[in-house]
Amino acid sequence: MPGEQLRELQFNRLRKMVDYCIDNVPFYKDKLNKAGITSSCDIESLEDIRKLPFTTKDDLKENYPDGLLAVGMDKVARIHASSGTTGKPTIGYYTRRDMEIWAEAAARVLVLNGITKSDIMQISVGYGLFTGALGFHQGAEKIGCTIVPASTGNTKKQLVMLHDVGVTALMATPSYATYLSEVISKSGIPRGEFRIGKVLLGAERCTKSMRETIENNLGVVTADNYGLTECFGPGVAGECEYHAGMHISEDIFYPEIIDPATGEALPDGEQGELVFTSLLREGMPLLRYRTRDITTLNHVKCRCGRTSVRMSAPFARTDDMFVFKGVNVFPSQIECAIDETDGLSPYYHIRLEREGFVDTATLFVELKQPKELLSDRKLQEIEDCLQNKLREMVIVRVNTRLVNPETLQRFTGKAKRVEDLRYSGE
Ligand code: ZN
Repeated sequence: MPGEQLRELQFNRLRKMVDYCIDNVPFYKDKLNKAGITSSCDIESLEDIRKLPFTTKDDLKENYPDGLLAVGMDKVARIHASSGTTGKPTIGYYTRRDMEIWAEAAARVLVLNGITKSDIMQISVGYGLFTGALGFHQGAEKIGCTIVPASTGNTKKQLVMLHDVGVTALMATPSYATYLSEVISKSGIPRGEFRIGKVLLGAERCTKSMRETIENNLGVVTADNYGLTECFGPGVAGECEYHAGMHISEDIFYPEIIDPATGEALPDGEQGELVFTSLLREGMPLLRYRTRDITTLNHVKCRCGRTSVRMSAPFARTDDMFVFKGVNVFPSQIECAIDETDGLSPYYHIRLEREGFVDTATLFVELKQPKELLSDRKLQEIEDCLQNKLREMVIVRVNTRLVNPETLQRFTGKAKRVEDLRYSGE
């Protein structure tokens, strides 16, 4: 759709959504009235979205579980939940119409990722409350491809299905896909007996080296995706064949980038917090929801011909952030340092401890080759390089321990990278 036409569509949907929220969600009626907005008449242009107050994760917590619900429970067709890092989960309510729009959004992302109805797609993320599997499942059904609902775990069986039914596309978290790719490459089964051509990644941040590991082990193309329970789940954005950012279904989810400290809108290319307004959601609409994901937007038309805005893979998530010696540290910064050091694999683990009154951080990283095969000089070189990169990215001192391949724990779902033992004795 040409940009101008898209803006008009967004504007009309936004106005409708503002009225819908005021009429159906007391929380929004109060909040908007306090901000001086009594109806969509106060929204005269798309830019006026900036007059609307933000919705935050704390708002969801305070109104848990159904304070933001805009319909009666008799209209709710499905409930999903994502595991929160602390305390209560984030709950999503979906009406029948929401389910249809969600399937449409997920189908778009799958098409972006290169899926066609001739594909046999194995979905190796968890079925259940988590939105990942069922979200993609519904999108895949809409496209008409063959679905293998493998869920997670039982890696042996995953392999049997991949091999025996001739799966052409695999959907998994980056950490599980990396693990599966290792298992396949070491299975002794000739690569030619597998038909996998595409690996779709989602549900957690994917590092460059994870993608390379998967692509090299399997000889496949990978495609990244983005979604969150607060905005249905998967289907918010996905990569096209040019791998130049993820196209956002912006007629459904209107994105903005703001300065996380001041809340001010930032222009294209500038890093800030991603904010979404649901333009069509019926069950649990969200106005200017702060995702806590740090990323950038790009409105330039893509080489694939799509006009939709693209987001870069989130650089960091404020939820994952930990405070160490007074400095905000993002695991993504540590991943970057590992990525840029030759000889290291993407598997790592961070342990935070307290010795007396001093906090220490130790980073365990797997080498690509066993230590026994490396000279002391080479090992020192790798360690020095990693230390230099860490100093650039993290500022505070992080101890490093290089360990042998395949000695750190593998995760079938979202990887737990940070182990905080600092307060465990209290
Ligand atoms: Zn594109």
